[in-house]
Amino acid sequence: MGNDAEERLAGALPIPETEGREASAAMTEHTASKQSCRCRVCGSGPLSRWVHLPAMPLTEELRPLDDRSAPFLADIDVYVCADCGVSQTVGERDLSPYYVDYGYTVGQSPFAARFMQRLADTVRDRYGLQPGFTVIEIGSGDGAQLECFRRAGADVYGVEPSSELCRASRQRGVPVMEALFEPETAALLPEPFRPADVLLMTYTFDHLPDPAGTLAAARDVLHPGKGLLVLEVHDLARIVERREYCLFEHEHYTYWTARTLGEALGRSGFRLLTTDLLPENERRGNSLLIAAAPTDAAHSPDRLLLVDEEAQIDYDEFQRELDSGIAALDAFVEREAAAGRRIAGYGGGGRGVMTMAAMASSWRLAYVCDANTGLHGRRAPKSGVPVADISRLAQQPVDTLIVFSYGYMDEIREAVMKLPGAPNRIVSMLDILK
Ligand SMILES: [Zn+2]
Repeated sequence: MGNDAEERLAGALPIPETEGREASAAMTEHTASKQSCRCRVCGSGPLSRWVHLPAMPLTEELRPLDDRSAPFLADIDVYVCADCGVSQTVGERDLSPYYVDYGYTVGQSPFAARFMQRLADTVRDRYGLQPGFTVIEIGSGDGAQLECFRRAGADVYGVEPSSELCRASRQRGVPVMEALFEPETAALLPEPFRPADVLLMTYTFDHLPDPAGTLAAARDVLHPGKGLLVLEVHDLARIVERREYCLFEHEHYTYWTARTLGEALGRSGFRLLTTDLLPENERRGNSLLIAAAPTDAAHSPDRLLLVDEEAQIDYDEFQRELDSGIAALDAFVEREAAAGRRIAGYGGGGRGVMTMAAMASSWRLAYVCDANTGLHGRRAPKSGVPVADISRLAQQPVDTLIVFSYGYMDEIREAVMKLPGAPNRIVSMLDILK
């Protein structure tokens, strides 16, 4: 399903050439010494650590089966700022040497395609945008989302650092600049898009190391009187509620709730308009999807702004819950194995990779299925579980299937149940984690 194609890399500086568990120890020391760092969002602090996941891989470093080189592994440590409340990592590192190129196919999922068109139509209709409105997307990928906006009547332009994805975007006729979005990038945008009516970042904003700088650049790009900023990030309140530890990734610099995002927008000259752009059943798994506008723009915020989920996070208690979630997954797999049942997974994207990496029992999974053909014949980093086409379930049947990409549960269940020898039991990892 490639549901984590959105989990793309956005940044930055060299790290030491260490590998495997040694890298883990080195990184722990590195981050601990940075504990007194200033907050990357508000510049204040102090920061205190509340999430620790030891020796975790990169979500996309899936290597061919015969490639035995050690994957990048480092601890994931997440800190919360006592001043602004934003959760974040400290330091910056360039992870790009570890990245393996493969084709992204997120647009092939009917659910994802429906979401993208609904987002485009809703932004146009809700904010009264007229034909020919201009849309810029930062991290525009293969251009699938911008194509939906064009279908909705917009003139579109993308900014995307991956040359492979830029090529795919141009093939579908969506113009794109091959670049990371930095404050200087704003001035390089073509004339008709300065200013722009809509600036869109879906699962990109939390991959950028300097959120305040990004928001300042967004203000420069947007029309001051009618501009709209549309952001989609993972919802930290939901991550915590569901114990969805797989969404803590090296690729994420920041983690947001509706409240902390609304406040950061306020500090950067934006006003939060809505956290309710699309109903939850039409959004992607664990999505915080918001619209904001420059403070003086003519858009009105929702009468009822839902931003109080923050109260749900118990920073002192979460590590214990996280550990017991992982233990529950391991206990489930061991129980199945002890009963003589064969087990496989579904979802070779970020969720599957990170969930399996933290489990002690993932070696018991025969394989993990994924619809993304670019992942087939590759191995998930650290867990070593091979990724296979869904047809493997017919060739090498299993009794139990654990679905990591649970956001596509209905589609997956439908596809799997059609197969001869389909598993007796298909279970969402969320149901085991709780
Ligand atoms: Zn802060």
